[in-house]
Amino acid sequence: MPSEFDLIARYFARPTPQAVLGPGDDCALLAPAPGMELAITTDMLVSGTHFLPDTDPRQLGWKTLAVNLSDLAAMGATPRWVLLAGSLPDADERWIAAFAEGLFACAKRYAVDLVGGDTTRGPLNLCVTALGEVPAGAALRRDGARVGDDLWVSGQPGLAALGLAQLQGRTQLAETLAARCVSALQKPLPRVELGRALRERKLAHAAIDVSDGLLADLGHIAERSGVDAELFAAQLPHLPAGADPLLARDCQLAGGDDYELAFATPPGKRPALAELAAELDLPLWCIGRIVGPKNELRGDVRLLDENGQSLPLTRKGFDHFGQDKP
Ligand code: ADP
Ligand code: MG
Repeated sequence: MPSEFDLIARYFARPTPQAVLGPGDDCALLAPAPGMELAITTDMLVSGTHFLPDTDPRQLGWKTLAVNLSDLAAMGATPRWVLLAGSLPDADERWIAAFAEGLFACAKRYAVDLVGGDTTRGPLNLCVTALGEVPAGAALRRDGARVGDDLWVSGQPGLAALGLAQLQGRTQLAETLAARCVSALQKPLPRVELGRALRERKLAHAAIDVSDGLLADLGHIAERSGVDAELFAAQLPHLPAGADPLLARDCQLAGGDDYELAFATPPGKRPALAELAAELDLPLWCIGRIVGPKNELRGDVRLLDENGQSLPLTRKGFDHFGQDKP
């Protein structure tokens, strides 16, 4: 049976051109460029809570890294380095090799170096810490939205939650749509280029990545910025054809695991955002606006119909679905 050190050397120690010193010593050594701030984030993925225990290890490797890079994207930071702390039930080398393959595929796509970590035996639990760089004072934060800003979201929020519903047998999607939704769930694409462009071109006052559901995450921007948000039902992203529209709408508003970006922009930026969407080949939807807080409970998110009437809604979705998310 391979030792912990054999496993690290075999599967996780790879060249780290962006680090002064990579895996193998007590610490990694990193040198951020002058004038840059470090953006640091960590996310844990626990088997049975954040992913199904039989998830393909290659896809899990990708996702473990991707969800962390999504947080860096939301700040407009450029991902540079990551650490991996893993607790693994046994030294199943086929599983570890496939996991590492997925993880390094994502690392390569987003140009990050795995510079260290920790490897122990225990219940399957994976924790990545990601570090990125952003020019001092320029990070996109949650607390910068202003009254009058437009609210935008990228891509197709809701597909990942539909993919989960499909895998759990709660819905039956047609084959091509099912494949698209399961891929959104298992292989999210962190919007690093979008976050970076929003920051470089000064297009956004505030941003967040959509990991807990669109309404909840827009609520975080509104709350932190001391404002309310209004969404226009008619401007929400088109629902995928071939899915139950009620389920698809609920997934879009309240599903999790999207890793799209939601952001607040000054209204004059619409042409620049249309241009950026074409450049990135990524749909960007102007779905609402920031308004002054209606009461002391700042951070309210309302969904309006074409007549400006509020549609029934809770933070977690339409209230005719009743229950909270699982
Ligand atoms: P220490 O006992 O000093 O904490 P470890 O024995 O835990 O060091 O780890 C040895 C080296 O291997 C360290 O440089 C650590 O960062 C690296 N390492 C451990 N696990 C991983 C992993 N999963 N991926 C990358 N590097 C790792
Ligand atoms: Mg040590």
